[in-house]
Amino acid sequence: MNPTTAAQSTRETDVSALGRALAVERRARYIDFHGKRTTFSQFMRQTADRLCKRFPSDSRWSTIRGLYTQYPNLDVASRISIVRRTEELLFVPEKEKPTPVEPVEARRDAPVGEPGAARIRSQHQPQTKQAAHEQPLHLSPTAHEPPLQQEEELVLPAKKIAPTRPPQDPATVEIKFVKGVGPKMSEIFQRLGIFTALDLIRHYPRHHLDFQNRLLIRELKPGQEVTVFGTIKSVGAFQSKRGNISIVSIVIGDGTGSVSVSRFIGGKSNKYLLDRFKNQFPKGAQVMASGVVERDRYTSRLQLKNAELEILSELGDASEELGSLHTNRLVPVYPLTEGLGLRYLRSVIHNALEACGEAIPEHLPESVRLQNNLIGLREALWGIHFPDDVEIKDAARKRLVFDELFSLQLQLAHRRYQNSLNESALKFELKEGGFIDNFRKELPFKLTGAQERVFKEIACDLASSKPMHRLVQGDVGSGKTVVAAMAALVAIQDGYQAAVMAPTEILAEQHFRQFQKWLTPLGLSCGLFLGKQGTKERKLMQQALLSGQISVAIGTHALIQDEVEFSKLGLIIIDEQHRFGVKQRAKLKAKGYNPELLTMTATPIPRTLALTVHGDLDVSEIDELPPGRKPIQTKAMTPADKRQIQGFIRAQVKLGRQAYIVFPLIEESESLSAKAATAEFEELQTNVFPEMKLGLMHGKLKPQTKESVMESFRSGEFQILVCTTVIEVGVDVPNASVMVIENADRFGLSQLHQLRGRVGRGADQSYCYLVANANSETARARLDIMEQTNDGFVIAEKDLELRGPGEFLGTRQSGMPDLLLADLILDATILEHARKCAIEIIKSDPNLTEHHTLKVLIKDKTGESAQLIQSG
Ligand code: ADP
Ligand code: MG
Repeated sequence: MNPTTAAQSTRETDVSALGRALAVERRARYIDFHGKRTTFSQFMRQTADRLCKRFPSDSRWSTIRGLYTQYPNLDVASRISIVRRTEELLFVPEKEKPTPVEPVEARRDAPVGEPGAARIRSQHQPQTKQAAHEQPLHLSPTAHEPPLQQEEELVLPAKKIAPTRPPQDPATVEIKFVKGVGPKMSEIFQRLGIFTALDLIRHYPRHHLDFQNRLLIRELKPGQEVTVFGTIKSVGAFQSKRGNISIVSIVIGDGTGSVSVSRFIGGKSNKYLLDRFKNQFPKGAQVMASGVVERDRYTSRLQLKNAELEILSELGDASEELGSLHTNRLVPVYPLTEGLGLRYLRSVIHNALEACGEAIPEHLPESVRLQNNLIGLREALWGIHFPDDVEIKDAARKRLVFDELFSLQLQLAHRRYQNSLNESALKFELKEGGFIDNFRKELPFKLTGAQERVFKEIACDLASSKPMHRLVQGDVGSGKTVVAAMAALVAIQDGYQAAVMAPTEILAEQHFRQFQKWLTPLGLSCGLFLGKQGTKERKLMQQALLSGQISVAIGTHALIQDEVEFSKLGLIIIDEQHRFGVKQRAKLKAKGYNPELLTMTATPIPRTLALTVHGDLDVSEIDELPPGRKPIQTKAMTPADKRQIQGFIRAQVKLGRQAYIVFPLIEESESLSAKAATAEFEELQTNVFPEMKLGLMHGKLKPQTKESVMESFRSGEFQILVCTTVIEVGVDVPNASVMVIENADRFGLSQLHQLRGRVGRGADQSYCYLVANANSETARARLDIMEQTNDGFVIAEKDLELRGPGEFLGTRQSGMPDLLLADLILDATILEHARKCAIEIIKSDPNLTEHHTLKVLIKDKTGESAQLIQSG
């Protein structure tokens, strides 16, 4: 790859990452979503900043960076408008975006109250011969729309659409041959991943606007996000005294009242421009406007803030076709129309359906359709775009959601069946009087009922000739490690080796100690494999492993390096499995001859999600905590309560307990947060807790230092550990009883739960303080959930609700399929039905010989991603 294309592709990756972030934030309802590492706005700012440095000539990046500096402090309406503007900047086709004429000056002109408004507008300019300012006004109803010719083309051929040729299967029709598309627009579609007429038909609307049950202007209340329809009553344009901002105000009336929409126009303007601008919104034209209702402070009249305007029909131009497609009943609104206008999309999708709809094959057997009360695919695809009424829309959605979930479940059931055919798996017998019995004798506690049950399930898998494919779910502190160790012993007893892979060095190191403690008395040795080990040490370990001296290899992903070879790998255990990519697991598996696989997770997965992601895994649950554990008392605090918390820590330390103080990752960079944690550490050690010994732990420390810090904390030499989130998973120091999490509002719920799980691991009462300035309602609600429950499942469900499944597990990591329509919470019932059907079909016809039409489902997009899941 030459340097330019390399730069290009990283930019493309960044742009699509930004696009995803925007989508997530929109779904999260503009809460400035907390990702794993940063907030949404930080992510946007940082990425833009990076791009800004890399592509200094492209002024979009500095604009975007600017837009997000104030984002966290803005109200929702402003956030919505920023998100929209970012999309415009990112996705308006390259060709329509020549370099801005006076970016610097324009930037200076940005009005203060309208964050970035003028800036953006001054940067994104059309290819047309219009003056540089005009596009920035962005008032044009067709601002996102393709050049005019296409619009005309669309409207005119309406009557010609009726196919004369026999309809073709849309999967075989290239996008450029869809009426109204053509070679130029097809490039834009292809960038969106739309290559065929079928892809276009599968570009589902985000929602529908209901023209019949529309809101009347009279009924509008401030704060609502609404869409209203009406006619333009008047358009006025005013110029500010300094002449650098113009305001265009459009009044829309619907017979019950009126509402105004204002636009600020940055940059110098003149009468000619304003007039042209006004002409785009002729009096009497029908418009649709969506935005947030507010009351003008001075005139107390209603207005729509940051409204999107769409002209529905101009005077004397109410073409019939337009009428039926764009204004009748339920009108589809499409997601992220990158360079594609709404009306344009509606029309070409309509064209594609007209031309090819008849040829769309039905793959679901009639029996399945009847059983689940589903309409036909053709009807559903029409209905999802252009429903006659709400019932049809719902029936269409139900059918398509079923398809998505069903194809996934079918794939998983098929996989399961294939696994079961694989008879060559290892068999480990559980023998009396072996390692297991001795191990139990040495163990200072009795296993809980749940631990016993799960171990039995594992032993059963190991003893059978089918390969084990089991996930152990257990809330933090439920005691998964012991069970893992016992599983390893079963394999070792039979002369095999086991591998234990953990996501962080700290955790791998801790497991190593624990396993050593348990296994050395049995005469077995363990080896530790970390990325940063010296060559000499590593060589020694590798030899010992290959020769079979080491029974259990414990490590981070360093274990999957090619040089690490086993003599006889029989069992793989993956702790905190959601932290690993699918490929990493597969690679480790390849080191043995069909080794058994045991995965563990403390991130409990709601059942619907588990069925989707782990449909081919057996799941065991450790649903009981060791006896005597008291629920952790959790309290949300503000930074003003600092002294109180410090006093509390002091009191606990006097009682012999220990505490963690966690600082979140800052600005997506571990080195910066390491720096911040270091500064806090110094402050706390010298000025706040001079009488105690504090430890400092962060990701930038050398492995040896990390080891010794953890050891000093474990041994009680340090009373307080100041740290970053490196201690998030797995760390086990039962004597610690206080967890203070600073800036708790920056974490996801599951992450807070994981962190909190570092305490409450012994019999003593433990406490967790979540420190945050939780100003917004959502932030407050999130912390409330943490205060109210210690149950990881409840928290996970809430997290799923708040963040959606992709974020929940990390789409890329889990191989989570893209579900376009299905919602794992709302569609739980459909999921159960789809699963039942899939299992029945595979049971009766495992190779789909009698259901050959279903093979399509396994091969389509969702099916492909399902393939990834198998190695989990
Ligand atoms: P997690 O499931 O979070 O990985 P661990 O395996 O680290 O939990 O166990 C948490 C703590 O509980 C450890 O200190 C472990 O020694 C202890 N533990 C595990 N099982 C029991 C038990 N049955 N009774 C008492 N303590 C136990
Ligand atoms: Mg653990």
